[in-house]
Amino acid sequence: MTDQSTVAAGLASGPEIPEIMRAAVLFGPGDIRVIDRRVPQPGPDEVLVKVAMCGMCGTDLKIFDGHFPLTPPFGDYTPGHEWTGTVAALGSRVDEVAVGDRVCIEAHSGCGRCDNCLVGKYTACLNYGNRAKGHRATGMTADGGFAEYAVHDVGSLYALPPSLSFEDGVLITTAGTGLYGLDVAGGYIAGQDVVVFGPGPVGLMTVQACQALGAGQVILVGTRPSRLELGRRLGADHVINVNEADPVSAVLGLTAGAGADMAIECSGAVPAPQQCAEVTKRGGKIVIVAFYPGPVTLDLSAIVRSDISIYTSRGEGGNNVKRAVALAARGRLHGAELVTHRFPLAEIDTALRLMRDRVGDPVKVVVEP
Ligand SMILES: [Zn+2]
Ligand SMILES: [Zn+2]
Repeated sequence: MTDQSTVAAGLASGPEIPEIMRAAVLFGPGDIRVIDRRVPQPGPDEVLVKVAMCGMCGTDLKIFDGHFPLTPPFGDYTPGHEWTGTVAALGSRVDEVAVGDRVCIEAHSGCGRCDNCLVGKYTACLNYGNRAKGHRATGMTADGGFAEYAVHDVGSLYALPPSLSFEDGVLITTAGTGLYGLDVAGGYIAGQDVVVFGPGPVGLMTVQACQALGAGQVILVGTRPSRLELGRRLGADHVINVNEADPVSAVLGLTAGAGADMAIECSGAVPAPQQCAEVTKRGGKIVIVAFYPGPVTLDLSAIVRSDISIYTSRGEGGNNVKRAVALAARGRLHGAELVTHRFPLAEIDTALRLMRDRVGDPVKVVVEP
């Protein structure tokens, strides 16, 4: 919703804001173009941000291919949900941030009025995709950050501490996903052995979060040596390459045959949930934060016999981006190390194709408007 009168009054906005910006627009499956668009205007509870950087992930590939539900229509839709930047203008009811503040975001803004939002589960908002009821998922159900400017609900913005770069800011959103999974599964992991499957951006941020939260052993499982090595540098105590070793026997070997207290599935690989079950000790927990290309087969009877609990969570809910900012500010989460490729906005099409084809083994690809 846009309150034209507020913006016309020029409330707390710099005179330098242009009327027209460059923005990536999805015109159809695989057809993204950078064109001129009007700079969006913030509603009463929204903030206009000059985007410094926007990351891309697997969700963007689904969006790019036209396989994502509830997106705005082709030709009128700017994706990008992992962005960070500088506040350029404020809506009439915003006093939580000031023009010039550097901010990072969480992608989801709940409606604030449904049963789920009222208990903090706003990534499962019952009005998901309903702008009129106040829900907004930037870059997914609303315009996002592959543009020079983006608007966002003030409740989903976080000040970026001075010690953090915009690269760190992009990965804050990603870290929130891992932390939300831990949160949903009970939160307190000090002393527990944790296995993280999938050394992609979510997995690599989750490895760091587990270390920061005092986990016993942090064991990272993956296939690509460069990512596993990065995971080791970022705090994994052990890394297991499934192309070289059976992850189940390796984890059992590291845990005196009992298995880990918790397995966190960040890979989205179809065999991984079953492997999670086999590396988790009796009475342990499995946390699934990934998406899969199709149905997954699990030996549920074995999971029940072992009294293992399975948790799932979507995105970076539960105010966990705030936790991610705090951990990063204390030097416990490092995001910039994951940025392997950067492109100007004009080359977003190249960036998306590089990520999809895994050219140069990208970890986090960012676009700079
Ligand atoms: Zn993402
Ligand atoms: Zn809601």
